[in-house]
Amino acid sequence: MLQCTAVTALPPEDLLRLLASDADGPAEPEPYVLCELGAHDDQGTEHAAYLVPGRTPDSPALWFFWTGSEPERAHRTAYVPWCPVILRQIETGIVRRCTYFDRHPASHSWDVADPLGDLVAERLAFGDAPKGDPYP
Ligand SMILES: [Zn+2]
Ligand SMILES: [Zn+2]
Repeated sequence: MLQCTAVTALPPEDLLRLLASDADGPAEPEPYVLCELGAHDDQGTEHAAYLVPGRTPDSPALWFFWTGSEPERAHRTAYVPWCPVILRQIETGIVRRCTYFDRHPASHSWDVADPLGDLVAERLAFGDAPKGDPYP
């Protein structure tokens, strides 16, 4: 399933929290956040963007949730526990944890494709790929 395409501007108080948590990060983070979930119904289902880690990697992390778009957007920020679901690949022994919060809508993170992110990763992995239109 594809990633949800919702984007929204972070309110100033949440942008400040993001800045405060990321001392080594860029001086000016993007004030916009993308919904990280798999494509979902936006009638009453909140979009969600990961903001700030918890005290430990297993602690609840801070997420930004919103519904609708400006000017009727409703939003909240909350510390929520992680989705407890783990994908275990028997053949390879690889274990992947879902990178969303508990009881998120739509698919777990490993079933969500981010076409732009995949494209960037492919470019990095195959730096000298043939040039030209990939879809002739
Ligand atoms: Zn969404
Ligand atoms: Zn999950």
